[in-house]
Amino acid sequence: MDKKPLEHKRSSKWPEVRKVFLMGKTCAVCGGKKKLEAHHKKPFHLHPDKELDPANLIALCEGNKEVNCHLFVGHLGNFRGFNPEVEKDAGEWKEKLSDNKQRIAKTAEVETSA
Ligand SMILES: [Zn+2]
Repeated sequence: MDKKPLEHKRSSKWPEVRKVFLMGKTCAVCGGKKKLEAHHKKPFHLHPDKELDPANLIALCEGNKEVNCHLFVGHLGNFRGFNPEVEKDAGEWKEKLSDNKQRIAKTAEVETSA
């Protein structure tokens, strides 16, 4: 896997800030709870001053079997890049995934009643 560019040293407080931020959180895309990451909306290498700012964080998971929400929505498929519209996209994809779940549930209903 590609390494994220690290031009600035990470704060020693980051692990604690990350842990506190992720407490009770679910993935902003799929609602999952497995392998959650605290993703920086404004990337650390461009905005190191926002590293510990909870307002700059969004919870994205890597535990969804079908989609790696952190990689796709947070980084648009490449950890070397980032998505400047991560919050908007996370909201839209969350809705799409939930609509799709309902469609699947309806299909299952039709199949079992047929
Ligand atoms: Zn997810």
